[in-house]
Amino acid sequence: MAITPKSMDPNALEFEVIAREGEARTGILKTRRGVIETPVFMPVGTAGTVKGVRFEELESDDLNARIILGNTYHLWLRPGIEIIRACGGLHKFIGWERAMLTDSGGFQVWSLGALRKITEGGTEFRSHIDGALCFLSPEISMEVQAALGAEIAMAFDECAPGEATSEEARRSMELTLRWAQRSKEAFERLQLSAVCDGDEPQREMTALPARQALFGIIQGASHLDLRRESLDRTVEIGFDGYAIGGLSVGEKKPVMFEVIEEIAPRMPADRPRYLMGVGTPEDLVEAVARGVDMFDCVLPTRNGRTGQAFTSQGKLNIKNARFAVDQRPLDESCRCRVCRRHSRAFLRHLYLSGEMLASILLTHHNLAFFLDTMRRVRQAIRSCQFAKFRREFTEQPGSGLGQDCV
Ligand SMILES: [Zn+2]
Repeated sequence: MAITPKSMDPNALEFEVIAREGEARTGILKTRRGVIETPVFMPVGTAGTVKGVRFEELESDDLNARIILGNTYHLWLRPGIEIIRACGGLHKFIGWERAMLTDSGGFQVWSLGALRKITEGGTEFRSHIDGALCFLSPEISMEVQAALGAEIAMAFDECAPGEATSEEARRSMELTLRWAQRSKEAFERLQLSAVCDGDEPQREMTALPARQALFGIIQGASHLDLRRESLDRTVEIGFDGYAIGGLSVGEKKPVMFEVIEEIAPRMPADRPRYLMGVGTPEDLVEAVARGVDMFDCVLPTRNGRTGQAFTSQGKLNIKNARFAVDQRPLDESCRCRVCRRHSRAFLRHLYLSGEMLASILLTHHNLAFFLDTMRRVRQAIRSCQFAKFRREFTEQPGSGLGQDCV
């Protein structure tokens, strides 16, 4: 059998929608490293670690994260791609055998603000670690992501601010489209050379022939006409899946939902739809209702480290004095190991004492809450109960809906 480049072959991933309710859908995403049920929340592992959580915990029944994120920008700067290559790729280096998705670094360098300069070729920026001048382009991002070896790589994009004018947003969207084309070309070259080198360490695991999948990113800020154009032209280039980028970057929440509502249902129905960097549990449920399948956000981990817990009764700040002798768990309807064992009073004591365990336990509970919410969402869609679930979830006391993602 002839070896052909499989980068854009749907067999890099297999995706099947198994149930729908309105625009909401639940499906199965098959990767070389296991099957992922969607809608799915992907914990963020910026530097090759989901901060504050051991991999055993992520794999346990308590959390059961099927896919995590790795961060191209951070891993490229430190430890550097040569070290990760020498250690056999990101999975082997960090000791995670389940699926991973790597972002392209586009968003991180964009977030550096004044520290970066964007040109047609790519983005020049100062490293946040040592101030060294660095340059990231679609080609370099694809090379780094190929070395990292995640199941899903992302095209290198440029993000416009939430309040960008139509002119600014168009300029940024056009650049993102040109970079999407270059990302795809570089990606295909790299996949082909990997196949020719016989660099297929996991090929036997699920018999999916392609090494990595590549997702395109839809931009256009809050301008619906630009978003639609970005979607059509990104689909024309052709990717294994599609992401909505450039949301939760300063625009108002109703604007964010307006974009999701306009774009998600128009995204190819037979490919996974990924909403990047959003959001609260309520945001996730609302985006699922509009047709999104995949999510990532730093909220459960970051807020865990600052003493904030997400619960079925809304957000809870463990520093609050009213928890000083509170014997109840963080969330009385949560069955995670933290809630089964520890009281709010103890967690508050740990936090106020500056004990590292406070961050670890709060992060664990928060991830359990996000992942369990997605489990309940999937179950609700399968049993045609999603509308009811959504109503109850978003109407719960203290629901974060309408609040900004912090
Ligand atoms: Zn819990």
